Amino acid sequence: AERFFPANLPSALTFDDVSLATLYSEVLPKDTDLATSLSDGLALQIPIISSDMDTVTESRMAIAMALNGGLGLIHYNLPAKEQIKEVARVKHHVHGLIQDPMTVKPGATIAEVLEMIELRRFDFRTFPVVDEAGKLVGLLPGNVVRERYKALQVANVMTPRKQLLTVEEKKIANDPIKVADRFFTENVGIHKILVVDAADRLRGLITSSDVERITSEAKSRRKPARDASFRLVVGAAISPVRRPDGSLDRDRIIAHVGELVQESVDAVAVSTAHGHTAGVGDMVKLIRGEFKDLTIIAGNVTSGEGVEFLAGCGANAIKIGQGPGSICTTRIVAGVGIPQLTALFAAGRGAARKGARLIADGGITKSGDIVKALTLSDAVILGGLLAGCREAPGEIMEISGKIYKQYRGMGSHAAMKAGSAARYGHDKNDTVRKVAAEGIEALKEVSGSVDDVLNALIGGVQSGMGYLGAKNLPELRKKARYIRVSPAGMKEAAPHDVIEVSKRSSN
Ligand code: 5GP
Repeated sequence: AERFFPANLPSALTFDDVSLATLYSEVLPKDTDLATSLSDGLALQIPIISSDMDTVTESRMAIAMALNGGLGLIHYNLPAKEQIKEVARVKHHVHGLIQDPMTVKPGATIAEVLEMIELRRFDFRTFPVVDEAGKLVGLLPGNVVRERYKALQVANVMTPRKQLLTVEEKKIANDPIKVADRFFTENVGIHKILVVDAADRLRGLITSSDVERITSEAKSRRKPARDASFRLVVGAAISPVRRPDGSLDRDRIIAHVGELVQESVDAVAVSTAHGHTAGVGDMVKLIRGEFKDLTIIAGNVTSGEGVEFLAGCGANAIKIGQGPGSICTTRIVAGVGIPQLTALFAAGRGAARKGARLIADGGITKSGDIVKALTLSDAVILGGLLAGCREAPGEIMEISGKIYKQYRGMGSHAAMKAGSAARYGHDKNDTVRKVAAEGIEALKEVSGSVDDVLNALIGGVQSGMGYLGAKNLPELRKKARYIRVSPAGMKEAAPHDVIEVSKRSSN
């Protein structure tokens, strides 16, 4: 009898299958609080994460996400060294005190400085000059870092130490921004504070533009997501690295995560298509064993057992989603996966038992989907909705006068060839067994900046919370009541029986 389907085969639902019931409200959308956390140590101002895909998140996207209060996960389709550099770029971006500013040696030539700027894509050209012992010997002003002077030596064109104003480290210990703000007001025309220790070794740098940005941000609507040292937050994805015999390459994994931690990464995401496996569990355990305080995101799973398993291995936040992604073909290729809303609901039981956070990953195409996802999770991951932003990496192309950006699944042939095969359990050098792609290569219409896209999405989320009388995300989760939508209801939900005159935005 077991060979026949039981009569009560369970069914599953996704975003468009349900709508949220309106509830009595005293909450105005603008007063809602979108703060969330991915672990006890990692708080975000908005529950939105950019996907760890090679056409979505590198440092530019991660910086834009963190400045908006969210988080970017740097993808892993690049050599470990490069990924670590991308993380460093985010951590160095805007902060009160730049703790390890880029410096130059007095013996370097301007040509070498120019080369370094080009290579590391710096967008600044003023550098403190330090000697071998780390002592401050001068400041190389940006106006001499030019091709014209390339043959000259730094020592000959720098402003020497005796002409520089510095601040001692202990003076800024409490409130660097306040001290810096006063310093810049008092010292007209100076835009950089060089911070030194008692032995005149360079300890940091504060720039007036950072200070201005930070003070003005304090008044603006959305706060950036920052770490305890006021740096932007960033995460990095990693995949199980294996030895030729198939076992986890523990040394390489520990070394890579160790370097990310050195750069103060705020979270690592063990990103795989199937997280409820011995291999992913071992990897999470390995990282948790070595890095007690690191926020670990792991996935993907679609069941309560999967969540309990990964949380039990030491993950703080679990990614939920198998096959909902816009560029994803897992359900077609492998015949596997659960519609996303039911997957989140099932995952929630495991999370409740283990105290883990849940992240809804994939399938979100409009702000209403985010509201629905957040009734069952702590944050969402967006791929397609952000892939068209100018901050996303990826080729831009013009087709019949329209501008598009490349967006591809990490399980597409092209992405797997570039490195992500391990995520889908394949070996990228496996030429004998043709690997089965679980994603496609696609295009997104270019959609403007991350700021614009997030503003529209967050506005929608806040409206949703207003309709439900939820001032914050825990209230949204508690209050949400679902209505099953019929095909007629779905038709009613979209604009109908009119001729649209302007193009609707995608959210
Ligand atoms: P989107 O926001 O575009 O709907 O979905 C993005 C999510 O799809 C990613 O965060 C990731 O979990 C998933 N994903 C990315 N690439 C692939 C792929 O090639 N195949 C599958 N099955 N899922 C993918």
